[in-house]
Amino acid sequence: YRQGEASEVAVPTPNGTVSFGEHHPIVVVAGPCSVENEAMIIETAQRVRAAGAQFLRGGAFKPRTSPYAFQGHGESALGLLAAARDATGLGIITEVMDAADLDAIAEVADVIQIGARNMQNFSLLKKVGAQDKPILLKRGMAATIEDWLMAAEYILAAGNSNVILCERGIRTFDRQYARNTLDLSVIPVLRSLTHLPIMIDPSHGTGRAEYVPSMAMAAIAAGTDSLMIEVHPDPKKALSDGPQSLTPDRFDGLMRELAVIGNPL
Ligand code: PEP
Ligand code: MN
Repeated sequence: YRQGEASEVAVPTPNGTVSFGEHHPIVVVAGPCSVENEAMIIETAQRVRAAGAQFLRGGAFKPRTSPYAFQGHGESALGLLAAARDATGLGIITEVMDAADLDAIAEVADVIQIGARNMQNFSLLKKVGAQDKPILLKRGMAATIEDWLMAAEYILAAGNSNVILCERGIRTFDRQYARNTLDLSVIPVLRSLTHLPIMIDPSHGTGRAEYVPSMAMAAIAAGTDSLMIEVHPDPKKALSDGPQSLTPDRFDGLMRELAVIGNPL
């Protein structure tokens, strides 16, 4: 069981240092599933910044179920994330899938994401643990809490103490209505077991844009430290995860609703 005070993960961004943790305001990470082109990533970054997000998310290297699905624009998308960072001052969060890309990603990202599918890629965990960018560790889709905390331990043991835990939904027997089951009970459980900051991703957690706002509010009510929300300027045309992406207008409305209970702004 947890010993000692909550950790904070303080991340320097062009707009100032943003701290994740129990004793800090809620941090909001927003942006598209994939970086598709310069215009869309800059527009999304400007809109989510205006709505109050502190970080822009966007995939350059995408872990797609099908090898024939859009795989992300790779290195060129990293350049577009850097441009969005320059344009808005937002911190950048993007995923690493292969250790070979780690240096290039670390040049642009303020926080590096390990996706659900790589949660137990132990050699990758050791490598991100041996560099100094903070790590967002998503829960594997069938990972127990013990599996997840031990995966975090690989990063901590390798020397990187800046780890944020992100719940993104676990496998469900009923995929007709939701993509995953968003396990909000992990919030109080993690709080009792670990000092690490907590993030909730209701976008992957539900797979449906219309269910994202209520789950975001529930996550705040349950005590999350941060949220990850997928936002796309034209969700119907998204190259990945359109059905779960909010429009910038809907995201702006959600941020106003969240301010009533969680003060993320
Ligand atoms: C993502 O954040 O776009 C993503 C692929 O998430 P996950 O690893 O949770 O599926
Ligand atoms: Mn996605």
